[in-house]
Amino acid sequence: MSVLLKNYAPDSLVGRAYKFAEEAHQETKRANGEPYFTHSVSVAETVHEWGLDEESVAAALLHDVVEDTTHTIAEIEKHFGPEVAFLVNGLTKLTEVHYSEKQTEIENFRRFIISFTRDLRVVIIKLADRLHNMQTLQFLDDEKRRRVALETEEIYAPLAYRLGMQKLSGELEDLAFPYTHPDEYKWLTKTIKDSYENRLTYALKVKPILTKLLVKHSIRPLIVDARAKRRASLYKKLVRLGMDFDKIYDLVALRVVLNTVEECYAALGVVHQAWPPLPGRFKDYIARPKPNGYRSLHTTVFCIDNRITEIQMRTKEMHEEAEFGISAHWAYQQARGGKNPKKWTGVKNRRELLWVQQLQNWQKHFGNQEDFLKSLKVDFFKDRIFVITPHNDIIDLPAGATPVDFAYNIHSDIGNQCSGARVNSKIVPLDHELQSGDIVEIIIQKGKKPSEDWLRFVKTTEAREHIKSALKIRSTTKKREPLLEFKIIGLERTGYLKDISEAFASMGVNINDLTSGVGPSSTFATITAHSDLLTQQKIEKLLVKLKKAPGTKEVQYRIVR
Ligand code: MN
Repeated sequence: MSVLLKNYAPDSLVGRAYKFAEEAHQETKRANGEPYFTHSVSVAETVHEWGLDEESVAAALLHDVVEDTTHTIAEIEKHFGPEVAFLVNGLTKLTEVHYSEKQTEIENFRRFIISFTRDLRVVIIKLADRLHNMQTLQFLDDEKRRRVALETEEIYAPLAYRLGMQKLSGELEDLAFPYTHPDEYKWLTKTIKDSYENRLTYALKVKPILTKLLVKHSIRPLIVDARAKRRASLYKKLVRLGMDFDKIYDLVALRVVLNTVEECYAALGVVHQAWPPLPGRFKDYIARPKPNGYRSLHTTVFCIDNRITEIQMRTKEMHEEAEFGISAHWAYQQARGGKNPKKWTGVKNRRELLWVQQLQNWQKHFGNQEDFLKSLKVDFFKDRIFVITPHNDIIDLPAGATPVDFAYNIHSDIGNQCSGARVNSKIVPLDHELQSGDIVEIIIQKGKKPSEDWLRFVKTTEAREHIKSALKIRSTTKKREPLLEFKIIGLERTGYLKDISEAFASMGVNINDLTSGVGPSSTFATITAHSDLLTQQKIEKLLVKLKKAPGTKEVQYRIVR
């Protein structure tokens, strides 16, 4: 057993998977000449480090067995049970799909990954697999290298980011960058005023000074981390800022991990006291987390030697969430026995819509409290779809949801004023059924009111309630809208009023109110009825019906209001 996996007994699920995979891959070597099995072990170690369960570690060890050897899924199931087999099967299927650079294919691929794998553990093991492939990419031929790097950049790095695995996402992007942007990579390495190595040296110099400073103020950081900005993210940022190096403030960054949120703000104060902050560069992602759940305080200061340096403060829990994303939550849940979700307050109090939090909520609604991982399995995703906003946020909706449901999920104002929708850049009707992976954009018309017709097809309670309440607002203002008033005079007799209301009803006309009175002679009755405006044709037909009622002498109508 490898060092990292040594705690698993030889007869445990992981121990047995280790042996099985080692034997299965015996004959094969990787492109760099190492035994193939080293790859499987590396992936399993990563999955273990991310805190996933034993089934996932075993599946990671076995992930290429079906793909690359003569062993079958049935064998895996026989030896390791249906759960491991399910995971390995998902991973094998993911490998079979060939990514293409066409935009439509990218969307299909995202859809495939999110929906088809149906268990996020498959995606996470796949990410560990991809990380190791990227780390050993130099051994492949040019064409394959470029394809794998592009796929990583387009599919896996964004996926990791959405799962809250920021560090992994950045690492994948950085590993892909030299292959996806070879010219830019060369340019960047040449042009940047300060080499990556220089910046790292500077960051490492600041690190003990910052630590001492905090300790002097009775703040004891758990970790102080120094880093220089990664090339891929630097390039992306440069493109966004019009290639202006002077606008990049985080070429050097330090990260302080602390015990409590209070300490984070205290540390911020100490930092600002020691080094003047750059105006407008302070970001409080604790009070307002990023949509993927990221929390931290960021500030930029004129640090030692007056060099612009970014300093981030966060708690240990925030740190682990940012490093390991959703898998950190699993680790927490498992470490705490998973039986008392009340104690698990890490993500509970956040106001922002969080991907991770959503998963937790689903667990609450559909899953088994005792085992979060199990609740993420097959059936769990069957009746949910995941669609993507133009800003790349994932919105989850029930299966069959429409653009109107999506619009109300974003904001009630967006829902109310929704006048059209684009799905994957194509205009669709508002009752269009959304699919997982769709990119949905809502077209709004200022001041527009929702339509009653929407109630026919919306799937979420949220949309239904908002439409109803918006329509109610309109019905109170309805009194100002024009109405038709009918005055009917006829012989007073039993059942006359009933005959008149039936005449209205037979035409499908809604009577808003109806009053009747008897004249002084007691011979004639006067009936006044108000209805919504009708077409001339309908009015004519209605008049005929009213006149036909036995006893009717006269019918008048006029538009009121
Ligand atoms: Mn692999």
